Amino acid sequence: MVASVILPGSSDGSLPEVAIENLVIVGSGPAGYTAAIYAARANLAPLLITGFQRGGIPGGQLMTTTHVENYPGFPDGILGPELMDRCKAQAVRWGTKLVEADAESLNLSELPYRLVTSEGETIRTHAVILASGASANRLGIKEEERFWSRGISACAICDGATPQFRKEQLAVVGGGDSACEEAVYLTKYGSQVHLIVRSDTLRASAAMADRVLANPAIRVHWNREVLEGMGEDWLRAIRLRDRTSGATEDLAVRGLFYAIGHTPNTELVQGQLELDERGYLVTRPGRPETSREGVFAAGDVADAEWRQGITAAGSGCQAALAAERWLSHKQLARPVERPNIEPEPAGETLPTATSDADNFDAGALWQKGGYALRKLYHDSEKPLLVVYTSASCGPCHVLKPQLKRVLKELDGRALGVEIDIEADSEIAVQAGVTGTPTVQLFFNKELQQQWQGVKQRSEFKTAIEALGASRP
Ligand code: NDP
Repeated sequence: MVASVILPGSSDGSLPEVAIENLVIVGSGPAGYTAAIYAARANLAPLLITGFQRGGIPGGQLMTTTHVENYPGFPDGILGPELMDRCKAQAVRWGTKLVEADAESLNLSELPYRLVTSEGETIRTHAVILASGASANRLGIKEEERFWSRGISACAICDGATPQFRKEQLAVVGGGDSACEEAVYLTKYGSQVHLIVRSDTLRASAAMADRVLANPAIRVHWNREVLEGMGEDWLRAIRLRDRTSGATEDLAVRGLFYAIGHTPNTELVQGQLELDERGYLVTRPGRPETSREGVFAAGDVADAEWRQGITAAGSGCQAALAAERWLSHKQLARPVERPNIEPEPAGETLPTATSDADNFDAGALWQKGGYALRKLYHDSEKPLLVVYTSASCGPCHVLKPQLKRVLKELDGRALGVEIDIEADSEIAVQAGVTGTPTVQLFFNKELQQQWQGVKQRSEFKTAIEALGASRP
């Protein structure tokens, strides 16, 4: 399946040949994947830059959500990361090419447009759909850096299950749907949850607000702002200011979770496309066209108002149809021929079974649970990559396939174990895990290196290779 023509490099070979794509989509949330599904079914073989670290994790904001209950087609709701896994599989099934990297720069002053990825790859394309979403905001309070990942977090859904938060007083800042959802979620772990709201109303939907106000484990603090975090090694308390009286008070909490909205990820096109005063992309009213021809916008990057998974998906569809029409009108589209009219079904991925005495396999590249960890830690001579995850951790969804790829590429020179910090909470406490995903690399029973959050595959591979372990 070939979708691109080749731009010749220089005759002396100093510049490599570069393929020209029909369409590049930047972003892998519901907007990006829906655009990809439509463009791929139109035989445009779109190339989708998933993003990696800039502007949040691949899959977008739904990767840090628990149950999505308002996306049509799932009467009992669906977990955000699962919904995104399904969108991705559907886009890939129809011929979308994924590039797992960040878009580092985008030059819209020359045609075909030129994009460079964080892996250093240059991509030329006739059309672009920007679906790069929005990133979580931080408060910027005193001592925020000191307590970041040591009590302060921007993702309750990812970090709530961390042992340090168990049966402790916790606080969430914000009054929107995210803050309400996170406050309810944290009641599973904390002894009490304080919701800190800067005004005297909740902006959240009525259903979500009702859930919070009816929950005896949640106490709402109206008209309060957070001034600073206090503590020693871990957050112990926060200082609040009453915005009406100006009085301050200290609230003893071990966790502070931000849910205070997002900023659109438009740095890539600053100075090149029209943005509004808050940084959102400006499009033709009710349409996906931006201020430059062949460049379209979809999802939260151009939507300060609705910002729902389903509206993002709808706008992704519009952007793909508009891009397809524009490419045909300009006679630039080079449709691909499919080898199979009906692509193979995407199928379901089954979760890894927890290892025990019966199914433990000393040579398996990837296993799960405390039994496998103990056996491999004591008996294996190979480097051991341990990833600490929790069921609703979206970033873990992103990281696990990356780690599995590294282990496959290393061809048995290292092994991996996944530890669910809820199922194996004692192991997580012993390991000093303060959030998910955390990855620890062991060799000869010693901790060699530790990472928190989603990192590039090459970081893990380089660290393992540096240990010099030989092939099996
Ligand atoms: P919102 O922008 O809706 O809400 C942000 C909240 O943070 C507001 O209450 C705002 O206060 C408050 N805030 C902003 N800045 C500060 C600050 N510096 N200090 C204190 N508080 C601050 O963002 P959300 O992330 O909650 O939601 C984004 C979108 O996603 C919405 O459209 C929402 O409906 C949707 N969503 C839907 C969910 C679902 O349906 N399951 C779950 C989560 C989100 P103020 O109100 O005073 O401006």
